[in-house]
Amino acid sequence: MMDFGFGLMRLPIKSEDYADIDYEQVNDMVDKYIEAGYNYFDTGYGYHEGKSEIAIRECVIKRYPREDVLIADKLPLYELTKESDIEAIFNEQLERCGVDYFDYYLVHNTTDVFKPVCDYLDCFGFVRDKKEKGLVKKIGFSHHDSAELLDEILTENPDVDFVQLQINYLDWYNNESIQAKECYEVARKHDVDVIIMEAVKGGNLVNLPEEAEKKFKDYNPDASNVSWAIRFCLSLDGVICTLSGMSALEQMEENLEIVKDFKPLNDEEKTIIDEVVEIINQSIAIPCTYCNYCVEHCPNDIPISKFFELYNDAKSAIEIQPLYYIYYNNYAERGAPASDCSFCGDCVDQCTQHLDIPELLEDVVDLLEGKF
Ligand code: SF4
Ligand code: SF4
Repeated sequence: MMDFGFGLMRLPIKSEDYADIDYEQVNDMVDKYIEAGYNYFDTGYGYHEGKSEIAIRECVIKRYPREDVLIADKLPLYELTKESDIEAIFNEQLERCGVDYFDYYLVHNTTDVFKPVCDYLDCFGFVRDKKEKGLVKKIGFSHHDSAELLDEILTENPDVDFVQLQINYLDWYNNESIQAKECYEVARKHDVDVIIMEAVKGGNLVNLPEEAEKKFKDYNPDASNVSWAIRFCLSLDGVICTLSGMSALEQMEENLEIVKDFKPLNDEEKTIIDEVVEIINQSIAIPCTYCNYCVEHCPNDIPISKFFELYNDAKSAIEIQPLYYIYYNNYAERGAPASDCSFCGDCVDQCTQHLDIPELLEDVVDLLEGKF
């Protein structure tokens, strides 16, 4: 049963070192997860500096029959410079994970920036070939860009089995950069299965503004903030798996409790989520409405609204996840980094919210630039 997946990208660690995984605790988490009837494990080449794949081998594959578990791994576009890299990385991943095939294999992080690499090295041709040889059972990709690009990739590769998307209730209603709702609709249009990542937005939907939390508690005092976020995702049609990147045994126990008696959101609950999104929006750091009036007036092609949106997300995060830097770099490469602002002021007159854009871009530079 795979509608709730164990993402191994934020595992418990024993020290400040991201690669110093607490394997004993991971064993306990795996045992709880399997006891509850689930079996989908998602890893990636770069997670925990490669040690997440080792955790798959040590904590899952060596301890459970291979045929009882589903292992998902990803081809890291950001590591590829030449064709031979692909086969070498794939073989390394098989070895690290201790398997001779992957149940699910994804092209990792399709974006405008990495799409040329993907096309040039024919990465989809590679995964297709592995599927034909039985080394991969199902092929897909994880997408971190616009719905338009998603549509293009799915049109070019109509045989992919699934797509992995960043979906959560805040990005669904509120995020023009991530385009969760639009991407989901494109996936449905192409009739591919959806796997959800970032259901609690990297932990950002765990601790909410007081007023937002009160809305949830007034309706159901026993339901945690996390349960609202996970139920939102599980309520969507066509979703075969919602991943949770759990970092402790208690989180695993809490999540399993949430999914055990899962009931889809009713209309009243959906309305409450709408209201909570409104409240979260009011607490954002830069009150940009992402109208884009400013953007076409910037002679330096700085994607101003995208940067402000990422900045707001990052400021409301308990901890800034590497994903923010990846998105920042993607937008900076496509347009220009925030530090390219020359203070010409051309954008300021256009701003519907009367923001001091050049000054705010300096805050963006401080928070997000040159960090990854
Ligand atoms: S002030 Fe900066 S962001 Fe605004 S238009 Fe000029 S270069 Fe672009
Ligand atoms: S004009 Fe102002 S409100 Fe609109 S996107 Fe630009 S910065 Fe945001």
